[in-house]
Amino acid sequence: MEIDKEKLKRAVRLFLEAIGEDPNREGLKDTPDRIVRLWEEFKSYENFNMTVFEDIGNYDEMVVVRDIQFYSFCEHHLLPFFGKAHIAYIPEKKVCGLSKLVRIVNKFSYRPQVQERLTAQIADFLEKELKPKGVAVILEAEHLCMSMRGVKNPSSYTVTSKLTGVFMDDEKTRNEFLNLIHNGR
Ligand code: ZN
Repeated sequence: MEIDKEKLKRAVRLFLEAIGEDPNREGLKDTPDRIVRLWEEFKSYENFNMTVFEDIGNYDEMVVVRDIQFYSFCEHHLLPFFGKAHIAYIPEKKVCGLSKLVRIVNKFSYRPQVQERLTAQIADFLEKELKPKGVAVILEAEHLCMSMRGVKNPSSYTVTSKLTGVFMDDEKTRNEFLNLIHNGR
C-alpha cells in the first residue's frame, strides 16, 4: 500500500497539537512533509528483486552473514529498536546474493514491528525463497521504549532467534553457527 500523504500530514499536525506544540512554528512547520518523505523511503524498502542462483556446484556449507545493522519501530510505542541481525542458511539447491540478506532484513524492519515477528518473517522469507536445509536468524536489539522510558535500562539487549531445519535438528550445526557469530568477541 502507498502512503496516504495528506492523511499522514494531518495526523502529524494533530499529534503535535495534541502534545501542546504549535505546528506552525518555524521548526515544526515542515515536519509533516519530512515525515511523509521519511515513510515513503521506509516503504520503498519493501520491494526489491530477490535474485536467486541455482548453479552452486556442490556447495552445501553454511552461509553466514553476521552483524547486519538494522532499524525498526516497536509497534507498541512507535519508538525505534535497533541492533544486529545474524543470518545463516545451508543451501539445498539455491543461494542468493549476500546483499539480499540485508535487503530482506530491511524489507520487514521498516514498519511497526515486534522483534519476535521480525525474526520469524526474515526466516520464513528465506525458507520460501531458497528452500534451504535450514535457516537461522538471531536478532539482538536495544529498544528505545525500554531505554528512554519506564525501566530506563539502556544496557539491556533483547535477543530473539528462529531456527529451522538442520539448525533445529542438529546440535553440531547449531553450535557451528553460534561459534561463527560469536567469534572474536
Ligand atoms: Zn515498545
